[in-house]
Amino acid sequence: MDGEAVASEATGNVSGIKEPRAVSQGHGEGHGARLPIVAMIGGGQLARMTQQAAIALGQSLRVLAESPNDPAAQVCPDIVFGTHSDPAALAAAAEGAAAVTFDHEQVPNDLIEALVERGVPVSPSPAALVYAQDKLVMRRRMASLNIAQPAFAQVDSVDDVTKFGDEHGWPVILKAATGGYDGRGVWFVDSTEEAAEILAGGTDVEFLVEERVDLKRELSALVAHSPFGQGAAWPIVETVQVNGQCSVVIAPAAGLPDDVALAAEEMGLRIANELDVVGVMAVELFETKSGELLVNELAMRPHNSGHWSMDGSRTSQFEQHLRAVLDYPLGDTRPIAPVTVMANVLGAAEAPDMSMDERIHHLFARMPDAKVHMYGKSERQDRKIGHVNIVGEADGSLADAEYVEAVRARAELAAKFLSTAVWTDGWDPHGEGEHK
Ligand code: ADP
Repeated sequence: MDGEAVASEATGNVSGIKEPRAVSQGHGEGHGARLPIVAMIGGGQLARMTQQAAIALGQSLRVLAESPNDPAAQVCPDIVFGTHSDPAALAAAAEGAAAVTFDHEQVPNDLIEALVERGVPVSPSPAALVYAQDKLVMRRRMASLNIAQPAFAQVDSVDDVTKFGDEHGWPVILKAATGGYDGRGVWFVDSTEEAAEILAGGTDVEFLVEERVDLKRELSALVAHSPFGQGAAWPIVETVQVNGQCSVVIAPAAGLPDDVALAAEEMGLRIANELDVVGVMAVELFETKSGELLVNELAMRPHNSGHWSMDGSRTSQFEQHLRAVLDYPLGDTRPIAPVTVMANVLGAAEAPDMSMDERIHHLFARMPDAKVHMYGKSERQDRKIGHVNIVGEADGSLADAEYVEAVRARAELAAKFLSTAVWTDGWDPHGEGEHK
């Protein structure tokens, strides 16, 4: 691609700028004088946090949301109400927008193609987005690019699973090619019988089978890519998963050799470039016990593994996504501290009696430096309702395991407190204050 520029040696290097384009469409009432409209399909927390970044750029996001209670609908004045599978609602949201982008990957690809055919500027394009929507299509493309990934096969019948398991070893991982998230649509399968049961339950879905990777941990390579061809990579982060759901992110990942980290950043940039992604993309990675990095899946939008960047990087993923879809020069992605830890606030099994307002009050009394991001969602078990970032002190070092562990412990303690109103370390709020 013309003007291709990728991050070079150092994390966060971006290069390549161009003259501002003349924007001929997408200006609207309430969107600031002569600033383009970005429309986001889906009113979840990613749209809500993108609106935060839009405000700083003098803009205001337009959002296609289903209800006034959606996280983004609570904070955006320009809402089109409707579903992402309704062509009329999509068209209304896209009207006059300089860029249409997504808060999730569930919009049917043919509806996005229809928008593109009508001249709507959609980022990422349906041709790129399909690799985040369909795991089988993505696996085949990664194979054609020689990107390291788990062995896999398409599943047309249970015999395909048996054959694959006998060849690669049991258990195997059975996956629905489309529609899954947070581990839904992923099964660890020990036998032909188990596989048969799962396949019987999903007659209208395509399946694939993967070898079970001997995981050391999970990582994420977060990058951004612009239409101009600029690329930017944040440092590789560790994503700690609990029950198939992201729980904690350690940014950067500790203990990753520099050459491996750099190669992973470059791989993320290469994938974004090859697939012509516009916007932020997360490449979810497995680190094997032998130190190899394998691609798990792609997400083409701001991602949970990048929430740390709101407080821990010079440019947050939400601002970067806007910059990329508007084809502005990309921002500096270097971290501002040796480590930043993000912990998700998940709804508790039973919402505590203490109000969220009071919980936040107590948290701030104990941890003045905790950065709290709540999504305006009601509390339901294991629902992501917010996150907390703790930015490590500047004099620490990623190589110092105790320092990293202390930052992580505080982030988890804070998030757990917001979930449950319980200090899991037994801290007494009526005792001494804490400042670190
Ligand atoms: P989702 O799209 O629902 O996030 P993923 O494909 O990311 O599903 O899988 C969810 C989790 O299942 C992963 O984070 C990982 O912990 C585990 N997993 C998925 N594929 C494999 C695999 N091939 N080997 C080992 N674990 C896997």
